[in-house]
Amino acid sequence: MSRYDSRSGDPTSYRDRRSDSGFGGASAYDGSVRSSSSRRDYDGAEPPRKLDLDGLTPFEKNFYIESPLVAAMSDAEVEDYRRRREITVEGRDVPKPVNSFRDIGFPDYVLQEITKAGFVEPTAIQAQGWPMALKGRDLIGIAETGSGKTLAYLLPAIVHVNAQPILAPGDGPIVLVLAPTRELAVQIQQEAAKFGASSRIKNTCIYGGVPKGPQVRDLQKGVEIVIATPGRLIDMLESNHTNLRRVTYLVLDEADRMLDMGFEPQIRKIVSQIRPDRQTLYWSATWPKEVEQLARQFLYNPYKVVIGSADLKANHAIRQHVNIVSESQKYNKLVKLLEDIMDGSRILIFMDTKKGCDQITRQLRMDGWPTLSIHGDKSQAERDWVLSEFKAGKSPIMTATDVAARGLGMHIPLFSILCLCCSF
Ligand code: AMP
Repeated sequence: MSRYDSRSGDPTSYRDRRSDSGFGGASAYDGSVRSSSSRRDYDGAEPPRKLDLDGLTPFEKNFYIESPLVAAMSDAEVEDYRRRREITVEGRDVPKPVNSFRDIGFPDYVLQEITKAGFVEPTAIQAQGWPMALKGRDLIGIAETGSGKTLAYLLPAIVHVNAQPILAPGDGPIVLVLAPTRELAVQIQQEAAKFGASSRIKNTCIYGGVPKGPQVRDLQKGVEIVIATPGRLIDMLESNHTNLRRVTYLVLDEADRMLDMGFEPQIRKIVSQIRPDRQTLYWSATWPKEVEQLARQFLYNPYKVVIGSADLKANHAIRQHVNIVSESQKYNKLVKLLEDIMDGSRILIFMDTKKGCDQITRQLRMDGWPTLSIHGDKSQAERDWVLSEFKAGKSPIMTATDVAARGLGMHIPLFSILCLCCSF
């Protein structure tokens, strides 16, 4: 039965789907809407936001029922599991991690997608993050790119959507995911489409640099999940193409990167339009002070889960070599490196500046190296084309600014990354 069938004609029938799927509906709603000042309590500094809570209907956000196998884990076993998988947790009443997909109690339609994807076991962030997210509490997740964090927040989001009343005409999304770049947003959307398909959850991706028409049409048709970069979303809100009144599940992905890119004012503007009793999931690869400060203002009584060390930026599996050379030696050193490693695999060269990217690309091409470049001054169409040439191996060398630092969605073996920094 589709989620639409199950709900038709009966405003409360949306609950049926969830109880069919094994979720008992451990209702989190205690009759009171969390006030804006209670978010301030976590911070102690942010002035209370004036939000009109009148007319906000209660919603369900706690779907977690601990399986008997998980409940039977002793404290020592839990501690051992977390140590082995480098999981550190903070917060009140932290749930135990789960060992297997079955233990989390996802509904069958989600489990089927996991089986189809061929996944064997939850990644560390999923093992600990899923029970936290399904409990309906706010969550800070510090995890490396590639750790499986997208599904750590998307699968609970799908469960969340399926427990809410269906969208009425004019409703905005139920789940909003904010991401720093178009590349990451598209990658998230692909996962949302794959894992949301079986419950007919619609999603769209809202990002700049492309015509607004198709995005506006998607929004007007009604979508449960919106994945957006902040600037274009504000555009859409200001022109009344969507609204955030139905958002009850908010994800900020790569918050550190969004702050680096100067999105803080836009993020504040967006979050101020979302009901304060939402569930907020705040993801970052690193945990500098600014990222923590914003978390304190947006989250209420959160869990925090760190995979590996909070200072960590790169994956453990990556060997890193550092060469310190003078500015004048840099190009020759680069060519020497290319001669050593060029074997048909892809080589990504990061540069500080767009101008540097263009200069080095031109020079490499003149010297016969098949190189293309991607940076913020290139049009979206050109960026797409360059990426596809790179992925296909037609141009195996790509220079880039940090527009390509994360979220390229590459799954190519033998991948080398060179960073040409200005100075140390
Ligand atoms: P992310 O860190 O979210 O960018 O995920 C990196 C990749 O891991 C994506 O291609 C996911 O589809 C994949 N992935 C997510 N969860 C799992 C899992 N439990 N087992 C294997 N691969 C996974």
